[in-house]
Amino acid sequence: MTAVPTIGVLALQGDVLEHARALEGAGARTVTVRRPEELERVDGLVVPGGESTTMWRLARAFDLLEPLRKRIEAGMPAYGSCAGMIMLADRIEGGVAGQETVGGIDMTVRRNAFGRQVDSFEAPVPLTGMGDTPFHAVFIRAPWVEGVGEAVEVLGRAESGPNVGRIVAVRQGRLMATSFHPELTGDHRVHHYFADLVRRAMEED
Ligand code: GLN
Repeated sequence: MTAVPTIGVLALQGDVLEHARALEGAGARTVTVRRPEELERVDGLVVPGGESTTMWRLARAFDLLEPLRKRIEAGMPAYGSCAGMIMLADRIEGGVAGQETVGGIDMTVRRNAFGRQVDSFEAPVPLTGMGDTPFHAVFIRAPWVEGVGEAVEVLGRAESGPNVGRIVAVRQGRLMATSFHPELTGDHRVHHYFADLVRRAMEED
């Protein structure tokens, strides 16, 4: 019997509902997380897209930054998309003064790297371990990954355009992140991949 994981969606700000739907499509139970007590009950966490500066300020105001760091250090699986990728990065470039992250992934992420809102775009991105057809990726004022440490596996890179080769999807152990928004397309492969990762982590612990 395969366990049904309970996956939280950090609900301080951003596209929470879309992630919850996609996770349910991937066979998970979902709950929203706004308080430290709610975080304790989840087997894994999605940090959605939105605005990382706002999410950081709210995480501070809700006393969530330290609990998030502690759970990630203790091995809780987490997946961040777009602003969520920024939140899971150990280092950021282009942040506002004093901007903090939760961290966990040994990478440097450049905020708003692909450009401003008008520069939002869609592109096919082949993703390692997620099937043969490229993922239709939606980028909205997206970051990219400037550099990764040795423990980080690159799962996807921009395939075309002026920014070809830029890293847009990564994984480090139980943590993963994408520059793009897989919750907006109805293709749940990224959420399936994460839900499987959470299931395996539950079996290991
Ligand atoms: N540019 C946003 C930030 O800095 C991220 C945009 C997004 O999540 N769609 O947080």
